[in-house]
Amino acid sequence: MKSSDLFARAKTLMPGGVSSPVRAIKPYPFYTERAAGSHLATVDGADLIDCCLGYGPLILGHAHPDIREAIERQLEKGWLYGTPTPLELDLAGVITADHPAVDMVRFVSSGSEATMAAIRLARGYTEKQDIIKVEGGFHGAHDAVLVKAGSGATTLGVPDSAGVLVDLVAHTRQVPYNDPGALETLLAENDDVAAFILEPVMGNIGPVLPDDGYLTDVREITAAYDVLLILDEVITGYRVGIGGAEVLYGVKPDLATFGKIIGGGLPIGAFGGRREIMELIAPAGPVYQAGTFSGNPASLAAGYATLRHLHEHPEVYRRLDDATRAIGEVAADAGRGTFVRIGSLFKHFFRDEPPQDYREIKECDTEAFSRFWKGMLDAGIFLPPSQFETNFLSAAHTEQDIEQIAEAYGSCLFA
Ligand code: PMP
Repeated sequence: MKSSDLFARAKTLMPGGVSSPVRAIKPYPFYTERAAGSHLATVDGADLIDCCLGYGPLILGHAHPDIREAIERQLEKGWLYGTPTPLELDLAGVITADHPAVDMVRFVSSGSEATMAAIRLARGYTEKQDIIKVEGGFHGAHDAVLVKAGSGATTLGVPDSAGVLVDLVAHTRQVPYNDPGALETLLAENDDVAAFILEPVMGNIGPVLPDDGYLTDVREITAAYDVLLILDEVITGYRVGIGGAEVLYGVKPDLATFGKIIGGGLPIGAFGGRREIMELIAPAGPVYQAGTFSGNPASLAAGYATLRHLHEHPEVYRRLDDATRAIGEVAADAGRGTFVRIGSLFKHFFRDEPPQDYREIKECDTEAFSRFWKGMLDAGIFLPPSQFETNFLSAAHTEQDIEQIAEAYGSCLFA
């Protein structure tokens, strides 16, 4: 069956025809038959260079032989035990060794679960109720963080989704990204804030990069007000380098959340941080958190193999950085919009200056983006289908892939 027919049927079986909203590309999404390395093959017979990579987890590309072997080895031994496994120690050992701020971790099954639990833990530890997030910051699809971004910095939260209690999100405050002054002002007038949660590099509207000193400023400000700093490294973890944004920017959060790459492409999440805080998690302490699939052996095996590979081949990061720089040079020549990148994250914004925060992001010309996106797809390049989602590259992208992406960028931006 072709994608258009599959989608027509899917809409009768699943709301919007999809399992997650961003996949509902108009007029219909392409359906994937298989993937290997940097390429996706669609059921319609197209072969696409993939710059979406499952929205980030696949830093080594699709079906990487080392990861597949690790998963297959695990499958032979079973894939769900409901008991502890030695694999948990392997992955926890690597994550804690790579992140100076992370003494202990708890594994969960998604990034959303990780941020939900980290926020609960912050409230349990501080015995305070409010949290602050960044406008436009995305931390998953649970109630406390589903707050309409773009509302005034200090106004009470407004739910971004029907079904979210106004009372609940009233405890979620917002500040603009890259504005330490707004954070300090909010903290000076509110002594009931448990935590400030932020993506160190905004990945869900970006990449939007931190100004020099922004992350160290927010570290100092939160410490001064006894507010926990939660770095949401679900995208940046092992993406901007080993040790994530924590190491890259030299900022030590109280808690950090992970997902995506640490599961090698299988479902995972994790949160971690200072021992004295983490030991409040059940059964060590009174903050409840649990999950049937937590620490799933197949995800742990895939994640451990991925992190081991990255440790053995740290040159991957340099190569990916060079690749996005090369694409950016072509994009810069187009004289239209602005190209932003960090390591293997990149995006072309249809706005003259690199956006600094959510309000500036909203000024982008989304119609121009849609035309560009469609042009790229016609040229055989699959980019995430929104102006507000970052593009990714993987170690599996070849020189030829990069040249093809750069060429397509050139022709689609000039079009
Ligand atoms: N935090 C960030 C920064 C994310 O990018 C995402 C997902 N894109 C999440 C949390 C939620 O992760 P998941 O989709 O695995 O629940």
